[in-house]
Amino acid sequence: MSSTEILLNGFRKFRKLYYEKSPNLYRDLIKHGQNPRFAVVACSDSRVDPAIVLQAEPGDIFAVRNVAALVPPFEEDGLYHGTSAALEFAVRGLHVEHIIIIGHAHCGGVESMIHKQEGGEDKGMFIGAWTDLLRVARERALADTPGLEGDALLAASERHAVRLSLENLSTFPFIQEAIAAGELNLQGWYLNIFDGALEIWNPDRQAFSQVI
Ligand SMILES: [Zn+2]
Repeated sequence: MSSTEILLNGFRKFRKLYYEKSPNLYRDLIKHGQNPRFAVVACSDSRVDPAIVLQAEPGDIFAVRNVAALVPPFEEDGLYHGTSAALEFAVRGLHVEHIIIIGHAHCGGVESMIHKQEGGEDKGMFIGAWTDLLRVARERALADTPGLEGDALLAASERHAVRLSLENLSTFPFIQEAIAAGELNLQGWYLNIFDGALEIWNPDRQAFSQVI
């Protein structure tokens, strides 16, 4: 079987198990348009697909995926802001009720930022500049626990990266407006598929708590 045939078989299975059981669900989503309540910013990593991990149905989640599940700060420079464009549509076009950042354990994007910050070579054309946005996550992890290194530094930086993206979300004027109007809620989650665990950032307690 060719490698793409695996995916085509997946589509045939989807058509049989999902589409043919409730074609009206899909047709209504086209006729009436999508109306997702959740926008999710997740990593492009193949192991952390939010629709699978959260068992969402078509139409439930407006998903933005990029390297390291990162939200950049609001910038008006006329450049190519794919993540910001998706967030703008989610908030102003779809009026989602929640934006959820889903960072994850063993994230290659956060790991490459740490590698570069520790003097490693940056071989990429784009990844280094993108993940540089996360430098402060490593700095904050080290400020919390000086001398942290290896997997512990990675895990702490990944959690700080979620919090940093939440901070960056709050720099977008249309997000500030929606929050002030009581129409939008921001959340930061941290997924660890190795342990099958999910943690949620609690800003009141300034801590992540695990979903039971
Ligand atoms: Zn990742």
